[in-house]
Amino acid sequence: QPRKRFGQNFLHDPSVIARIHAAIAAQPGERLVEIGPGQGAITAGLLTAAGALDVIELDRDLIEPLRQRFGSNTLRIHNSDALQFDLRTLVSAGERLRVIGNLPYNISTPLMFHFLDQADSIIDLHLMLQKEVVERIVAAPGNKVYGRLSIMVQSRCQASCLFRIGAGAFTPTPKVESAFLRLRPLQPLPYPIDNPELHFRLVAAAFGQRRKTLRNSLAEFVTPAHFAATEIDPKLRAENLDVESYARLANAVNATELAI
Ligand code: SAM
Repeated sequence: QPRKRFGQNFLHDPSVIARIHAAIAAQPGERLVEIGPGQGAITAGLLTAAGALDVIELDRDLIEPLRQRFGSNTLRIHNSDALQFDLRTLVSAGERLRVIGNLPYNISTPLMFHFLDQADSIIDLHLMLQKEVVERIVAAPGNKVYGRLSIMVQSRCQASCLFRIGAGAFTPTPKVESAFLRLRPLQPLPYPIDNPELHFRLVAAAFGQRRKTLRNSLAEFVTPAHFAATEIDPKLRAENLDVESYARLANAVNATELAI
């Protein structure tokens, strides 16, 4: 019986599962880790393609059925909370992982950032998320759903929405539509951010008052001199500024704060 508190909606549609496997295109010997394997809907094909696999599953009652279905030679099962899990413990120095997950939607955003904080050990992530969340992640400037999430993710990753999945592909049927997202951590970062905490606060302030001009919404941080130095027009609004401009503005503010 699927459990609501663990965000369990199990995939049952074979054509959706096949599309997921085709998008990931796992190769023999690659190091994969699946978050929340559930009953193994996605796991089976990944195991066949890669030959071995790590999975992280929180629900203790799913561990034994997974063991029975797949054995424990090639499927390494970790009965843990993925939010606490350090992916670096799975790989040796220089090795990198591919992360896959049909995530529990109630914790999908914190989980994604937990992994992005470990981006140096990750090749790519393929994540099933609520459709609206994926749309916000991949949105471009000017789009009405472009916002904090778009900037925080796109500052660190190349993000693409691969396809949408209707609620009917899952049991029980969720109330929301889903989409399959690919993230490729950018290394090196194209626009390095000197002070991530300041950058985060600046972006939050801009979008907290997204109808105001940047001059007003960012008055607490950004002086006319910062706008001039970065050649960013203070009459623009939050949604008009691209990912690079937020990084440059935050770096300019950080540089003068350091100077003071
Ligand atoms: N991958 C399976 C599928 O597609 O059918 C299951 C997907 S279900 C939406 C999410 C899975 O994540 C469940 O098996 C649930 O028990 C597990 N889960 C929930 N919270 C978790 C956490 N914090 N860490 C690891 N797994 C978790």
